[in-house]
Amino acid sequence: MKTMHCCVSIDWFREKYPDGGELTGGLGRDGKSMSGQEVLDYLDGLEGRGYDYIPGCDNIDDRGHCAGHES
Ligand SMILES: [Zn+2]
Repeated sequence: MKTMHCCVSIDWFREKYPDGGELTGGLGRDGKSMSGQEVLDYLDGLEGRGYDYIPGCDNIDDRGHCAGHES
């Protein structure tokens, strides 16, 4: 059976959180908190790689979306 990770689009995130929001309580990368500016910088870096999605795992396609997993 093939499963997919849920991936959030960068455009959606920017519209919902124009100031980057603030990822606290371990929601940021590597379980750390991130300020709004750190989130925006992270999104810029993802877009610089051509991603349209915030990667949710390490098996992603060219747009940053989960490429699926066999289980
Ligand atoms: Zn995945």
